[in-house]
Amino acid sequence: MELTKKMNVGVIGLGAMGLPMAKNLLRKGFEVTVFDARNEPIQTLEKLGAKIGHSPKEVGLQSRIVLMSLPSSKEVEKVVAAEDGLAHNMKKGGVIVDTSTIDPAVSRRLADECEKMGLHMIDAPVSGGTTGAEKGTLSIMVGGDRYTVKRCKGVLQAVGRNIYHVGDVGAGQVFKIINNMLVAINLIGVSEALVLAMRAGVDPKLLYNVVKTSSGNSWALEQKLPVMIKNNFKLGFRVWLQHKDLALAMSLASQLGASLPMASLAYQLYEATKAIGLEDLDHSAVVKVLQHLSGISSARAAE
Ligand code: NAD
Repeated sequence: MELTKKMNVGVIGLGAMGLPMAKNLLRKGFEVTVFDARNEPIQTLEKLGAKIGHSPKEVGLQSRIVLMSLPSSKEVEKVVAAEDGLAHNMKKGGVIVDTSTIDPAVSRRLADECEKMGLHMIDAPVSGGTTGAEKGTLSIMVGGDRYTVKRCKGVLQAVGRNIYHVGDVGAGQVFKIINNMLVAINLIGVSEALVLAMRAGVDPKLLYNVVKTSSGNSWALEQKLPVMIKNNFKLGFRVWLQHKDLALAMSLASQLGASLPMASLAYQLYEATKAIGLEDLDHSAVVKVLQHLSGISSARAAE
């Protein structure tokens, strides 16, 4: 049976992505119960009509389906598998939908543990950034059995537009990790374009207009070159999350025997971006490392 609007939907993890997803569920008429480690987004959602769960357990007890949007495998593992987590407390037949980007092996293991407890867990990592989350136009890469994915259709359609069922549990993560590896490589390409333009004395805004309608265009250029030009890296997608996703790509590559020279370099450049203290800026801040390598100071970048 499809999970309908009459059933309570839980949302755990109310950050850059989870908060707008919860808002969209409320807007579309779902009853929503929320929890986060921080109070601020909980209060925002309470004003919009959400119920407050004070722990993953409380959310689990009140919900037939729970969406999670948490930073990494560690937090997902805790929220699902801890004694006061979802798996021990949701009623049999409930569904956990993990929209976080995590290790596919962790997704599979947690889904197996849930199955043993009479629950279902699917991975549904998302793409489209905070803008996509706000507009409800995310792409969602879903891994799970056909029946469970079908049950979640209404909820997924409330937060996303392009919903792809890409295989069994864990498959969504593999697609998402590949997507984010490409984004990082493209962002570094755009950063190098900006560095060369600055060194050549070319107007970066004109460069943006020209390449946007030429063969060098990409999502990274359209969305993030303006951010790099303004030198204002507010979120967005955090540098440390981009680094985490590149680490997931490197780990998959090593397990599977795939050689990824560009992704390795991207991983190292994000390592450097983190190391110089920029981990909480938007991932386009990698340009600062590339600018530094060419002797372009932050002040000059901001001109
Ligand atoms: P974020 O850091 O903005 O939000 C994470 C939220 O989880 C925070 O509000 C934090 O307080 C909460 N949290 C952490 N541990 C918790 C716990 N144990 N219990 C309850 N709440 C907890 O991160 P985000 O940018 O929203 O990303 C969330 C996930 O979505 C990540 O896996 C990320 O890779 C993925 N993602 C992000 C974007 C993006 O553009 N930001 C795009 C696609 C996918």
